[in-house]
Amino acid sequence: MQIFEEYAKLLVEVGINIQKGQNLVINCPVDCAWFARLCAKAAYAAGCREVIMGWKDDELTREKYLHAADEVFDSVPAWQSEFYNGYAKGGAAFLSIAATDPENLKGVDSDRIVRTQRSSNKALKEFRDLQMSNTVPWCVASIPILSWAQKAFPDVKAEEEAIEKLWQAIFGAVRVTGDGKAVERWREHQETLKKRVDKLNALDLESLHYTNSLGTDLTICLPEDHVWAGGSGFTKGGVPFIANIPTEEIFTAPLRDGVDGVVYASMPLVHDGNIIDKFHFVVKAGKIVEAHAEVGEETLKAAISLDEGASRFGEVALVPYDSPISNQKLLFYNTLFDENASCHLAFGEAYPECVKGGEDMTKEELKERGLNESMTHVDFMIGSADLKITGKTWDGKEVPIFVDGNFAL
Ligand code: ZN
Ligand code: ZN
Repeated sequence: MQIFEEYAKLLVEVGINIQKGQNLVINCPVDCAWFARLCAKAAYAAGCREVIMGWKDDELTREKYLHAADEVFDSVPAWQSEFYNGYAKGGAAFLSIAATDPENLKGVDSDRIVRTQRSSNKALKEFRDLQMSNTVPWCVASIPILSWAQKAFPDVKAEEEAIEKLWQAIFGAVRVTGDGKAVERWREHQETLKKRVDKLNALDLESLHYTNSLGTDLTICLPEDHVWAGGSGFTKGGVPFIANIPTEEIFTAPLRDGVDGVVYASMPLVHDGNIIDKFHFVVKAGKIVEAHAEVGEETLKAAISLDEGASRFGEVALVPYDSPISNQKLLFYNTLFDENASCHLAFGEAYPECVKGGEDMTKEELKERGLNESMTHVDFMIGSADLKITGKTWDGKEVPIFVDGNFAL
């Protein structure tokens, strides 16, 4: 049991960094209730005021999408917006245990999914804005569930063995061994990320040029006064927290109108309960003008047409090809892990912290600075063993950032 308690403690004390007297909202699948209990215990031990649960269930979600009355997907009940907006405004912390069948919504009408996202993003806008601007601390982490473990390990027939293998993969990725030193290891890891962040910020690049043998040839201009971030974020009150466990990336925002070329995904993407695979985008002046996928094209096209900003980019993230997660050579079918095994981009909203002073700017000011706005934010992986990224400084100097998939700095 010790290793699970160590993991729960890591999420609550380092991921969320729960403060005395603070509320904690935990979103969690019902299958993982035992682990939510460990997190709640760790939170109360650290002085949490109250743990409030938001339960999820794949099967009920799927049943609803298939059989609920059609108008259900255009509105969100008032209690639900009050739940998220109210707790966020009151300064609660949010922990999400993200564990789902990668193909849970296969065959569901994608129009229902898109309408749900539109209505829920509208109803929970206050919560989302407070989260994106790091006003409230949040952390996303995962534990295995059977459907997911079976997808990640298709050749393992015994159910328990598949779960056990996924646990080992997750523990490897999150640096938890059961020796009680996970918190220390995370402090060291954050230092490594911070050094990379400082180097990139010191370069003050104008643009990045990506090429690899998949066919990617993409130029990404960066906003003036952009900021690279990674590892800990900080709430407005200055409390450090880590939004994703694991995290290996350092990231910033691209210039909304400044992305041009072709970009190929290097891994499948699990999105909206569907798998999208072998896809690429053609991008002109920041906008995705063509999207092609051999698998899941309908899901992909629905995702980038959610709103105007969904077809533009909101994040550029660097992850070495040689990292603890990618060295496992395992496709997790869960973006939380796969994005941390590979350089990635996100279409949709940019994080305000990616431009100097951005967390205190209005939406209009952020837009003026060149950051993209959208109700969505979807990471997709583009890193490969031969990825080359060359930076260009404002005075036209070229700097190798990535060579053969790894940092050249
Ligand atoms: Zn990212
Ligand atoms: Zn992202």
